[in-house]
Amino acid sequence: MSDCLFCRIVAGEIPATVVRESARTLAFRDVAPQAPVHVLVISRDHHPSIASLLDADESLALELMHEAREVAVAEGIADAGYRLVFNIGDDGGQTVHHVHLHVLGGASLGHVLV
Ligand code: 5GP
Ligand code: ZN
Repeated sequence: MSDCLFCRIVAGEIPATVVRESARTLAFRDVAPQAPVHVLVISRDHHPSIASLLDADESLALELMHEAREVAVAEGIADAGYRLVFNIGDDGGQTVHHVHLHVLGGASLGHVLV
């Protein structure tokens, strides 16, 4: 059994509310949403961060962004606007070390970056 939380979600060992799937990605609702819409788009395979994924599989990194855009469309926030966030490493606030793209929206998020 993997000790990576998101690998365990991919394996179905931990439940998640899945909103979108592809052969190489999974999108599910964040358990502690920071906005009315807060979805995480992850790779099915384990990669520690977007920084390492760019070296390991650039096309998969791009696919995460395509999937995030499709999540925004499906959630009805594409026209109003939304925010995509990759946290990287400890100073970047990354708490789960399996690459994930935050899709945040459903309300005005303002200009705050941190
Ligand atoms: P990070 O801080 O690493 O960029 O984001 C990790 C995110 O994963 C956080 O927003 C946190 O709420 C979310 N998260 C942590 N554990 C779980 C879980 O078990 N299920 C789901 N759906 N989200 C989780
Ligand atoms: Zn993992």
